[in-house]
Amino acid sequence: KAGFALTPMELRLAANRERTILTSLAVSLVVALIAFAVLSMLVIRPVLSMEEMARRFGGGDLRARVSIDTGDEIGCLAVQLNAMARQLETYTSSLEKLVHERTAELVGANAKLLDVNAQLDKLAKTDGLTGLFNRRYFMDKLGFEVRRSDRNKRSFSLVLLDVDHFKQFNDTHGHPAGDELLQRLATLVELNLRSIDVVARYGGEEFVVLLYDTGPDEGTRVAEKLRRAVAEQSFAHAETQPGGRLTISMGVAFYPQDAKDGASLVEAADRALYGSKAAGRNRATRFDALPQT
Ligand code: GH3
Ligand code: MG
Ligand code: MG
Repeated sequence: KAGFALTPMELRLAANRERTILTSLAVSLVVALIAFAVLSMLVIRPVLSMEEMARRFGGGDLRARVSIDTGDEIGCLAVQLNAMARQLETYTSSLEKLVHERTAELVGANAKLLDVNAQLDKLAKTDGLTGLFNRRYFMDKLGFEVRRSDRNKRSFSLVLLDVDHFKQFNDTHGHPAGDELLQRLATLVELNLRSIDVVARYGGEEFVVLLYDTGPDEGTRVAEKLRRAVAEQSFAHAETQPGGRLTISMGVAFYPQDAKDGASLVEAADRALYGSKAAGRNRATRFDALPQT
């Protein structure tokens, strides 16, 4: 019978081999762990922290930086990443400053433009000598008021006013004195009206007044008030005028009684004014009181 028995020598050898294998396995494991730790410290952690920094930066935190000072390639990469971030931050903030400055300039220019526009608007409506509204603006207002009156069934009055013997005043005292008189007259007329009424310089020495929501009785009363205020005012040099004082003549017309539109209302007031001149001046004549032709 064939037999097979291990000698004690062979048994020891087998045990030694087993120990050697186990020891090599343990050593390999420790080496692998150490390698992983080193790799993690030198590569994985820096890469993760750069990734985190890039994410914060991309999210708008322009101050985000990495702090890696390993001195190797990854350290170099980190330094470059930080430099790039710094550059971007500087660039962005200078761009923001520029936008801010330009916006401020634009706001300033806009304010100036509005101011210039307001001045232009005022110039376009105003008579240069007296500061009253000009004829064009008045005619616009008149057209608007005609439409408003039609809609609201309210009447309004129009007074056309002309300085008596103004040519004589100019001839005696000169054009500049005449200008000054027109300015004072404009102020006086405005002072004797409500702030809502519109006064304009219609022509050379003619003014026109629109009295809102004012019927014939009240309109006639206002015209008489103006006549008296002017006749009682002591204007410079007025003593050389016929009668020894400066006077005005007026024509008064009412909407909708006397005309169907703005232009014919002015025409009616003009005819009434002519009536005042013909009747001896220094008076107000209603269009509806003119003899019918
Ligand atoms: P009436 O009583 O009939 O209105 O006589 P008048 O002399 O006032 O009328 P006329 O139309 O003959 O003369 C008006 C004068 O007004 C003539 C013109 O020299 C003067 N005039 C018109 N515009 C101005 C102005 O802006 N400044 C001055 N100083 N005079 C002006
Ligand atoms: Mg005139
Ligand atoms: Mg006149």
